[in-house]
Amino acid sequence: MILSAVYGCNKTNSSESVKTEQTSAQKSPKTKVVTTFLPVYLFTKAVAGDVADVDILVKPGTEVHEYQGTPANVKAIATANVLVKNGLGLEGFLTDTVKNAQNTKLVEIDASKGIKAINGISPIEEIAKAEKDHNHEHAEGNPHVWLDPVLAKQQVINIRDGLIAVDAGNKSTYEANAAAYIKELESLNNEFQQTLQKTPNCTFITFHDAFPYIAKRYNLKQSAVVEIPEDQLSPTDIQKVVNAVKKYKVKALFSEPGVDNKLFTSLSKDLNLTLRPLDSLENGETDPEYYFKAMKSNLQTLATACK
Ligand SMILES: [Zn+2]
Repeated sequence: MILSAVYGCNKTNSSESVKTEQTSAQKSPKTKVVTTFLPVYLFTKAVAGDVADVDILVKPGTEVHEYQGTPANVKAIATANVLVKNGLGLEGFLTDTVKNAQNTKLVEIDASKGIKAINGISPIEEIAKAEKDHNHEHAEGNPHVWLDPVLAKQQVINIRDGLIAVDAGNKSTYEANAAAYIKELESLNNEFQQTLQKTPNCTFITFHDAFPYIAKRYNLKQSAVVEIPEDQLSPTDIQKVVNAVKKYKVKALFSEPGVDNKLFTSLSKDLNLTLRPLDSLENGETDPEYYFKAMKSNLQTLATACK
C-alpha cells in the first residue's frame, strides 16, 4: 500500500511538465541513491557531491560480510532511483532485500564492472571446525578491490557513468567531482608505488583476506590469512596456529583497527613480530576524504612493518 503510494507520487513528479512558479521548495527532487557499505558510499558521495541524495545501507560499525538486510533497507531501496554496490558477491544480502523492495524502476550500478577479480591467492590457515559455518569464501573472487587505488579509480568511473546515465542533467557536476577524486587517487597510487618499491616482496599475514589487491599492485606478499574463530581458542589451538604460521618467512603481522584478540597477541609474541592495524575501510568515517586518510595511514603502516 505504502509503496504504491510512493510510486504514484514519484510518477506524478517526473511526468509533470508544467513548471510551477513556486521557488526552491518546488525544485525537481534530487536523484535518490542508496549505496551498500562504506567504500561504495565514499566513492558515490565524492561523485554526487550535493546534486544527489546519497544514503548507506550497511551503517559503519556493522559487518558487511555477514550482513542481513533490514526492513529499513527494504524501505530505502523501495524509494530509491539508484542502488550502488561493490559487487563481486560481497553484498549477499541484496538479493532478498532488493526483491522485497519491489522497485521496478531501480537502476543498479555495479562498481566492480569490468574489474578482473583475484581468486584464491591467499593460503588460508583453518583454525577451528566452527570456521566452516563462518563462510568467508568468495564465489565471485575476492571482493576487496577498493583497497587498490587503481581499481578504486575504475570503481569511481563506473559510479560516475552510472549516475550520468540516470541523471544526465547533472553530468558536468558528476564529471568534475569524479575528476577531482580520481586525481587524488592517482596521486595516492604514486605515493604507494614510490614508498613500497623500497621493500619488494615484503611478506605479511592478516586475519582478514582483504589485501591481495594491494599486495599484487605493489609487489608485496600476503602469504597467509588466519581466520578469526568466533569461539574462545584453547592454548593448544593457539600453538597449532603459531606452528602453521612459522612455516612462512613473515615480515609483518596485521590486524584490524580496534580489534583486540588473544590469538593475535599470542602470535605476535611467538613470532616476535609487532602487531599493527591495517584498515580494510569496511568501517570508518563517512567523509569521502576518509578514504585517503585511512589509505595513507595504511601506507605508513606497511612501510614501517616492511622496513
Ligand atoms: Zn572484508
